[in-house]
Amino acid sequence: MNDCNHQMARTPSPPAKDCPADQLNRLGAVAMRRVWLFGTPRERCLIFGSWLGSIIASIVFGLATVILNWSGLPIDFGGVQVFISLYPPLVICQFWALCFGWWWGAIPAYLAAFSLSVYAGMPIGWALLFACANPLGFAVLTLGYRALNISRDLRSLSAGLFYVQLCFVASVFSSASALIWSYTNRIDSLGQLPIWQGWWLGGFVQDVLVVAPLLFLFWPAIERWRLQRPELQLADVTDSRRLVLRLMLAVVSGVLGYGFLTIQLGSGKVSSALLAGEVSMLPAAVGIMMSTTWTFFWVFALIVAFVGFFGYQLFTHWLDENTLLVSRLEQANLELEVLSRTDGLTGLYNRAATDRLLQEAWQRASRLDENACVMMLDIDHFKHINDSYGHAVGDAVITQLANVLRSVVRIIDVVGRYGGEEFVVILPGTDAPGACQLAERMREHIAANGVEGADGPICFSVSIGVAELQLNDNDAAAWLKRADGALYCAKHAGRDRVMLAQVCDPLAEEQLRPETN
Ligand code: GH3
Ligand code: MG
Ligand code: MG
Repeated sequence: MNDCNHQMARTPSPPAKDCPADQLNRLGAVAMRRVWLFGTPRERCLIFGSWLGSIIASIVFGLATVILNWSGLPIDFGGVQVFISLYPPLVICQFWALCFGWWWGAIPAYLAAFSLSVYAGMPIGWALLFACANPLGFAVLTLGYRALNISRDLRSLSAGLFYVQLCFVASVFSSASALIWSYTNRIDSLGQLPIWQGWWLGGFVQDVLVVAPLLFLFWPAIERWRLQRPELQLADVTDSRRLVLRLMLAVVSGVLGYGFLTIQLGSGKVSSALLAGEVSMLPAAVGIMMSTTWTFFWVFALIVAFVGFFGYQLFTHWLDENTLLVSRLEQANLELEVLSRTDGLTGLYNRAATDRLLQEAWQRASRLDENACVMMLDIDHFKHINDSYGHAVGDAVITQLANVLRSVVRIIDVVGRYGGEEFVVILPGTDAPGACQLAERMREHIAANGVEGADGPICFSVSIGVAELQLNDNDAAAWLKRADGALYCAKHAGRDRVMLAQVCDPLAEEQLRPETN
């Protein structure tokens, strides 16, 4: 193998940076239409079957929540009374939204909330608005995963932490409809806190205790399937800067909304007891206020942790992207550098690179007083080959010759395509007899093996001029000029032969030039 090929083989391949999460985020959501049109019958059956089942289950469980009154159940949490609501549709729909995309979770969640609110007697207009809350929460969740390349595989600690914190923000959004519920059901300010706290805390607890284990179990298989079926998914082309901005806005408004509502509803209890002048109610109201304050503290701690963690994730994501970009740039530069010194047809060094390498070889051999030879090689009557068989065959002859040259030289030798059908071979540490021997071997090999043409083998020969570096070769050009002179001698002497520069008479060489041109 020649040096040129070695250089190419050494070119490093781009780092395998594409983790599955990265690829999936680029893929976006699973497209319902594509699953319907291009999915296998099994995929269609399984996906749409279980999705329809989920819609029915969500509606049934949604109604059960109202009928069995699973809202605002008081729970003693280490001496602090908190309210929790059970709402199974949230679990089902959130799983769909996370694994398949927003629409898959938003549609059943909307239908479930709409049905239960109509059942509970909410006016249709309010019910339409009320049902938007869960889809809003899912939007925050899916936005978070699109904005950052964080895996949904909860087996890693950072993925788990991100999930928990994002779920908190999403459940604050999901619980926004508690206010509509309180208003339309004429629940007074005393009853609003359990409802609202129950909804967001209930949602959050269910996300962590039920959806997280489901993701833990099923996401790896779903991820594998999604990576195998990119054609069923939408390409995510949204600018990630915009996504991060939207996520930050959602987080900030969610957190501010949460803080405001907690204080407003908690202090509402105390002030209504004061206003009513019922001192007996005051201790209970203050107790609730204290519980709310402590809940607020824990939630606030979670938010601070989220902001810190999110910032860190953002930073490492940005750093990874930059590292990837730099390594791709380095790779592109390397490829460009290889291209700039390579001949397109043969893959050998091109003329500029050959000149540079010849200059280096001349410098080294002259300084160290080492042997070195240069060969100039030209195909005989190449014009005739082109004229008789066409340019494509001419090209095949050039390529074949390049392959032969590559295969016979040593790893330290340099082979370059110097012109159309002219080649230069640089042989460091080689004396004239050695170079002539190699040149003769090349010539014989080429004369013996032609190129396979349409009507049998096409034979061709080469003439080679060899010049050993001498003291009076003042530069590389002078050295090469003597090899070129020897080549002209070989042409003049009848072609298909090797000629060493010393045996040529420079004067005679000059006289021969017009004749051979
Ligand atoms: P000589 O034995 O004296 O070297 O004769 P020749 O016909 O080989 O020499 P000449 O310089 O007259 O012809 C070289 C031809 O090579 C002319 C040109 O059209 C052709 N050629 C140059 N580059 C390429 C190429 O990349 N592909 C092909 N097919 N032909 C090329
Ligand atoms: Mg020629
Ligand atoms: Mg020529």
